[in-house]
Amino acid sequence: MRTPVIAGNWKMHNTVAESLKLVRELKALVLGVGGVEIVVAPVFTALGAVAAEIKGSNIALSSQNVFWEEKGAYTGEIAPGMLKDVGCTYAIIGHSERRQYFGETDETVNKRVKATLKAGLTPIMCVGETLAEREGGKTLEIVSRQVTGGLAGLSSAEIDKLIIAYEPVWAIGTGKTATPEQAEEVHADIRRLVGEIAGPATAAGIRILYGGSVKADNVDILMSQADIDGALVGGAALQADSFARIVKFETK
Ligand code: PEP
Repeated sequence: MRTPVIAGNWKMHNTVAESLKLVRELKALVLGVGGVEIVVAPVFTALGAVAAEIKGSNIALSSQNVFWEEKGAYTGEIAPGMLKDVGCTYAIIGHSERRQYFGETDETVNKRVKATLKAGLTPIMCVGETLAEREGGKTLEIVSRQVTGGLAGLSSAEIDKLIIAYEPVWAIGTGKTATPEQAEEVHADIRRLVGEIAGPATAAGIRILYGGSVKADNVDILMSQADIDGALVGGAALQADSFARIVKFETK
């Protein structure tokens, strides 16, 4: 039984006050909702305030990125242990915007995943193909390379603890969602690949989230697919009511 995860990536939006307003509204709307892990990922500057606000609630905290060293002369970076210290239990790693604008590679994603696991946080490792790669028939090849690279050197027990998010780059922030069939095809392939890497039990247990223009009106059909175990939500996570509806998805 895989507990679904609905995670909201707030990206570079919201001051501390705005983040608090959003999370307070969300907290009220999802009060008592169980059977799903609800995660929010505010900007770094709002993590402490949001952590205090969600204490004792059913909402958990994630960062949007993390560095792989524990401490030292790495100006501008934040270590996994520091995120844990502020109240994070998850860290988003390798989001396509970080790969596109900040030079993330499968190798740096792998370093971040390892350091995050070592600190006891749950990595949400993002993978996904660009439009050109999809149109070139390379989707499964690209995603397979990203998953294999991101998981390199990890034991099955470590892979058991992480979450993978499949986010086709062409569907992020564009309003274009992958069809449930397109998403399911890739999710099933990721699960098959995890089985090859880490064995059938890990493959059966790992949570694979879909991300890319998930909204209140398409979450149900996406969540009804056999290998979709949750959603990583950008735009629709910035409104408490739409995110709460996504959290309360209904499968057919
Ligand atoms: C994301 O940022 O991970 C994302 C999927 O964004 P959106 O939901 O806006 O497409």
